[in-house]
Order: sequence, then C-alpha cells, then structure tokens
Amino acid sequence: MPLLEVPGPLYGYRAWRFYPGKTGLHSLSSGHAWPDDRPKAALCIRNFVPWLSHGPAPSTGCTCGIYAWKDIPEKAYSPSGMQPAWGVVELTGHVIEHTAGYRAQYAKPVAIEWVEGIEPAARRYGLIVVADIREWRG
Ligand SMILES: [Zn+2]
Repeated sequence: MPLLEVPGPLYGYRAWRFYPGKTGLHSLSSGHAWPDDRPKAALCIRNFVPWLSHGPAPSTGCTCGIYAWKDIPEKAYSPSGMQPAWGVVELTGHVIEHTAGYRAQYAKPVAIEWVEGIEPAARRYGLIVVADIREWRG
C-alpha cells in the first residue's frame, strides 16, 4: 500500500537488461529500449479501457508506474541468462512512495554501475559511470 505521495524529483535505483557493445537499456520485463532523448513515461494498461481508466500513471489504487528502489536490494533481481546493469534514475512528475521504493510518472537514467560492455549505452544516455552504484550521489 502506498504510504504517501511525494513530489519529484527523487532518485532511486533500478536494473536494466543490456547487450554488451550495444546501446539500448531495456526494462527487465520489456523488449523496448528506454528513450535516450526524454524521460521514460509510465503507461497503464487500464487507461486503454475506458471504464477502468484512472488518469495519469501511477495511481494509488493500481500497480502502474516506473519502479525504482530506495536502496539496492540485498538479493538483486537477476533473471537467468540476463546480465542486469544497475543504475540511478531521476524520478519526476507524479511519484508515489512505498516502503522500499517508488512508482513514478517519469524516469530518466542518470548514472550506471560499470559492467563489461556498458560504455556504448552510457554514451547514448549521457550517464555517469561509477564503480559502485551505491556510492553515487546526485
Ligand atoms: Zn494503473
């Protein structure tokens, strides 16, 4: 359950799927690369159904929004066969705070932890590359 609603910008951690030597950052659950010229905007499937629509994502009564952790979880999500890249996102627009993280209307990557082959993606998105993302400070 949401604790409270807070204004952006805030910063949170999240992981992306990437392909070494390529430039795209992809959500772990989607095949589409994040945009590199604007923040990623949250969409809600309910807004495509007139009688379920709740207005801009995220909504307090829904699970939509772009997710980010307040801290990197101890057991970082790492789907089999996937090399996640951990980074920091700037969250703007409407942001809902939860115990361990946020759901945001807009998110833009600002920093990423170095992993083999991340340089092309870092250049494309204009990211600060750091050795340990836990030590990043905006
Ligand atoms: Zn929703």
